[in-house]
Amino acid sequence: MFNRLRNTIVRFMAGRYGTDHLNRFLMGTYLALWVLSSCFARTRLGWPLSLLATATAVVLLWRTLSRNIPARQAENEKFLRRWTPTKDWLRRQWTRLRDVRRCRYRRCPGCGTWLRLPIKRGRRTVTCNRCRAQFRTFFL
Ligand SMILES: [Zn+2]
Repeated sequence: MFNRLRNTIVRFMAGRYGTDHLNRFLMGTYLALWVLSSCFARTRLGWPLSLLATATAVVLLWRTLSRNIPARQAENEKFLRRWTPTKDWLRRQWTRLRDVRRCRYRRCPGCGTWLRLPIKRGRRTVTCNRCRAQFRTFFL
């Protein structure tokens, strides 16, 4: 029974695109929009959010079932070129927020590296442990 259902699905998906990073991102967006639209269901934002969620789901389904695999792969690559730096930036912000009581982050003017520094209040001179450049900084 389950085997027959599985075979049917496998046969249906043969030659179709399936999933990738962009589709997982669209799935997350869809779920977030769906939750938001239920939260704002009784306000003016309710139906535009639910429309947006439905549109996202349609695009997700269309990409998953698409037979034009090279075009979908190109879209995914384009998406990753933009998403990867954004994701890294978000992760850095999260780390900074998590460490706000313990240390501060300063960018080295010499090599551009982010330095994680213990909090010592007032003006101080910092030495970059990568390029050995020294610079003045200030902690509140
Ligand atoms: Zn440096």
